[in-house]
Amino acid sequence: MDDDRFDAIVVGAGPAGITAAKEMAAAGLSVVVLERGQFPGAKNVWGGILYREPTEALAPGFEDEAPLERPIVEQRYLLLTDDGMMGATYRSQRFAEPPFNAYTVLRSPFDRWYATEAEEAGAEVYSEFTVVDLLWEDGAIVGVTTGNAEGELMAHCVVIADGANSLLAQKIGLHREWAPIEQALVAKELIALPADVIEARFALPPGMGTALEIFGESTAGLLGYGFIYTNRESLSIGTGALLEDLIESGINVNDMLDRFKAQPAIAPLVAGGETLEYSGHLIPEAGYNRLPQVFADGAVVVGDAAQLVNPVNREGGNLAMLSGKLAAQAIIEAKAKDDFSAMGLSRYRELLDESVVMADLHKIRNITDFAHARPHLLREYPRVLSGMFEEYLRVDGVPKKTKQKKIVAMAKALPKRRLVDDLVGAARALI
Ligand SMILES: Cc1cc2nc3c(=O)[nH]c(=O)nc-3n(C[C@H](O)[C@H](O)[C@H](O)COP(=O)(O)OP(=O)(O)OC[C@H]3O[C@@H](n4cnc5c(N)ncnc54)[C@H](O)[C@@H]3O)c2cc1C
Repeated sequence: MDDDRFDAIVVGAGPAGITAAKEMAAAGLSVVVLERGQFPGAKNVWGGILYREPTEALAPGFEDEAPLERPIVEQRYLLLTDDGMMGATYRSQRFAEPPFNAYTVLRSPFDRWYATEAEEAGAEVYSEFTVVDLLWEDGAIVGVTTGNAEGELMAHCVVIADGANSLLAQKIGLHREWAPIEQALVAKELIALPADVIEARFALPPGMGTALEIFGESTAGLLGYGFIYTNRESLSIGTGALLEDLIESGINVNDMLDRFKAQPAIAPLVAGGETLEYSGHLIPEAGYNRLPQVFADGAVVVGDAAQLVNPVNREGGNLAMLSGKLAAQAIIEAKAKDDFSAMGLSRYRELLDESVVMADLHKIRNITDFAHARPHLLREYPRVLSGMFEEYLRVDGVPKKTKQKKIVAMAKALPKRRLVDDLVGAARALI
């Protein structure tokens, strides 16, 4: 330290904050991470799929050291009705051999391990430190106030990595209070089951895992999805929807999860398991069109706090990590120029704009508005499709020609103009 200030204080020891701390410490900056949990990851929640390639780029060799659950060899996309299920599965032997594409990971052990990476690089990581406010001097942020005896800590730059619904970023006026349409609320349960039971139920080779994403009845038809991810000896199961839809419908997300688990196609998958954990969490869904300002005089905002989540491709952790790295790069450059002003730190936004983070968020920038305006997508279409499949598959003495006519009639009963509008709209929002 060249004075009594740290170069950087990082608020929050999630993937974004730890990556930022690790990168800055490795470059020789003095860095302290303050985490409110009992330890990094103590209460952190995700589904959770960790992608190998982006993680390897930031934490080389992590596969040998990090606590990982199962490599994902298969992805299932399913549509649920109240009594049925249909869908598509992609399984590849190429995903079952190194280099793997993705792993299931439990946040608590993973975040704890990842924080040691930052410590090894030279950062100080303190748990049970809640940052309650930011310190200002001449219009610039110069530190934080903690709720602990240590009181105030000073730094040239504060990295705001406090996750979804960041109170600190809001406090410094980088964004307004997020509206219910800009956040999803998810309930998640961790259910213990023996490894051999998981492998038999999901038809998995020993040690390998699958990821199920389930639409329709899994969210009572609201905009969102349910998921089941296989861990070594547990299942992560959850469901959630846009907060606005939950409020409007009056549906409680915990009841939604109970209903999801009880659905006849899902119940046998979780049967006999013991609940180990139950949690609820917000997912930022403001998207590219409503992204907040991510830098200020003396501060940058990373990860969920900056709304950097791609809900379509289930990417949040890797975007958080990459944003932490890019913020660190900007702060390292700011230190070299001794310029921690908003202008100096605007380099972070430039780096984000040049990265895959913004490219991907830009690509899906209209998807939430598109889907939210069309509630029938997840309510009506699964029911109609299910009826068509049942008619096609049931052998009941009715001639096939008659069945075919019935199926065509079901399709014709859908409003044509709306169907075309949905297809064109989906293509526009996704391509
Ligand atoms: C149900 C669910 C499923 C998800 N599934 C996936 C998935 O499968 N794959 C994926 O890539 N992403 C997934 N995500 C998204 C992913 O979890 C987030 O994008 C990612 O965790 C963001 O990292 P972060 O470091 O920005 O925030 P967080 O991980 O939320 O970390 C923020 C940290 O800040 C701490 N903190 C908060 N306030 C303070 C304070 N005032 N003082 C000190 N510390 C503070 C918190 O305790 C926490 O440790 C999922 C999210 C949810 C909710």
